[in-house]
Amino acid sequence: MIRRFFIIAFWVLTFNSFAYAQTIPEVDLNAYHEISSHDLLGFAAELSSEKYGGRLSGSPGYEMSARWVAERLQEWGLKPGVGDTSYFQWFPNAWTDVLETGSVRLLPVKGSDQKERVLKFPEDFFPGSNSASGKVEGEVVYVGFGISAPELGYDDYAGMDVKGKILLMETGVPYTANDPDLKRWEPYSYHRYKFQRAKDLGAAGLLYVGLVANPNTSFIEGFLNAHISEEVADELVRPVVNRPFADLKREIVKDMKPGSFYLNRKAEITARTKHYPDAMSCNVIGYIEGTDPELKKEVIIIGAHLDGQGSPGALFPSTLDNASGVADLLGAAKALASSEVKPARSVMFLFFGGEECGLYGSTKYVNEPQWPKEKTLFMMNLDMVGNGKGFFMSGGLSFPNYYRPFEMANNKYLHREMRTSELRPSFGRPRTDGAVFEKGGYSVLSLWTTQSVKPVYYHHPLDNIDALTPEIMEDAAKLLYLGIMGAANDRN
Ligand SMILES: [Zn+2]
Repeated sequence: MIRRFFIIAFWVLTFNSFAYAQTIPEVDLNAYHEISSHDLLGFAAELSSEKYGGRLSGSPGYEMSARWVAERLQEWGLKPGVGDTSYFQWFPNAWTDVLETGSVRLLPVKGSDQKERVLKFPEDFFPGSNSASGKVEGEVVYVGFGISAPELGYDDYAGMDVKGKILLMETGVPYTANDPDLKRWEPYSYHRYKFQRAKDLGAAGLLYVGLVANPNTSFIEGFLNAHISEEVADELVRPVVNRPFADLKREIVKDMKPGSFYLNRKAEITARTKHYPDAMSCNVIGYIEGTDPELKKEVIIIGAHLDGQGSPGALFPSTLDNASGVADLLGAAKALASSEVKPARSVMFLFFGGEECGLYGSTKYVNEPQWPKEKTLFMMNLDMVGNGKGFFMSGGLSFPNYYRPFEMANNKYLHREMRTSELRPSFGRPRTDGAVFEKGGYSVLSLWTTQSVKPVYYHHPLDNIDALTPEIMEDAAKLLYLGIMGAANDRN
């Protein structure tokens, strides 16, 4: 016998509003209690394993992981969400296989007492995820943000000769406020723009500051690059400028004036990669059909990106980012599919490919939706949901009716700190799948965990299964299960 729980009394007490009292959400608590951290960690461990190679979108490892997810959806009875016949929504996705760790060496210039320094992976450098193959050597030049924006009166390359040189460059743009003016800097915020600009000016290579693997760059024949730590950048500039590396960026941002200079130091980058320009990748989509003849035409979309950072130099298991979100979706999908209480509306589970490469999968879906947009209540995106003690669900103040079932579920069952906010417009480039949906005109809620209890290794080989806290994973999946059920059966 299944236990059914009516939470009408709670609803009335909490909100003291007759409008809400009309709704009687009901859940199957057996299915709820079957959501276990054991299963969720199992899903995350599977996806983090060596055989999927860090799930770089476009790669065979990613496709294997996508097939594994689709098999689970099929096993649990979710319907294929692409044209009702397939779980896969395909799109072009070039990718680069990093075959060796490669190397970065800092070399002395002639006549100096500088020492050669061989950088170590992963402490000092990461190979470029889209570097060309080969070996380049040249003098190092600091070029700030690497931006030439004549209409903004800003040029990091003004008066600099970078032909045959190795550039030392910051990520981002000098404009830091999130206001309408940021929009003007957006075209310059893309790594791809910076790479192309550097190549066009004849630079031999690039040392990009910030120790994160980043597939969201471009492969340009003959252009080598690597990521270096801030500490290494500091070592490089200190003898010349006599102040910390971090000051340079601060000064540029403060005065909005470039601060480029020659370092009087040489560097060498080697890399061995293979580029696959014509590869394809996919989203995985499955759904549970609603039971109400009318309401089932409406859908709630729960999304998370399945792809990771691949294996640039070592396996990047990409576990917190974002096997955690995928595992939570799978846990909720399994529970909903087995629940005796059925959702009146339909519920779609959408696993994105290509997020790390530049939000390809969510862009594909928004351009080719598999459910009418006007019949989509909202999209909830999960990214990095698995380390911490609390929840943040952004967008709740903008879409209170969609947020409420999740808030109620948390208050009633989970008792985690859960905060929310308005949907804040971003004036820069979109950085999450949720932002792509928001720009596409969807109502978007985004969920992540707060109050980290373990160190966060962002885009790092140590983002592995040990980076997760099982209890919050379980509660996130339970929050999804209860909240989706509430929203799918809300008849107000
Ligand atoms: Zn992510």
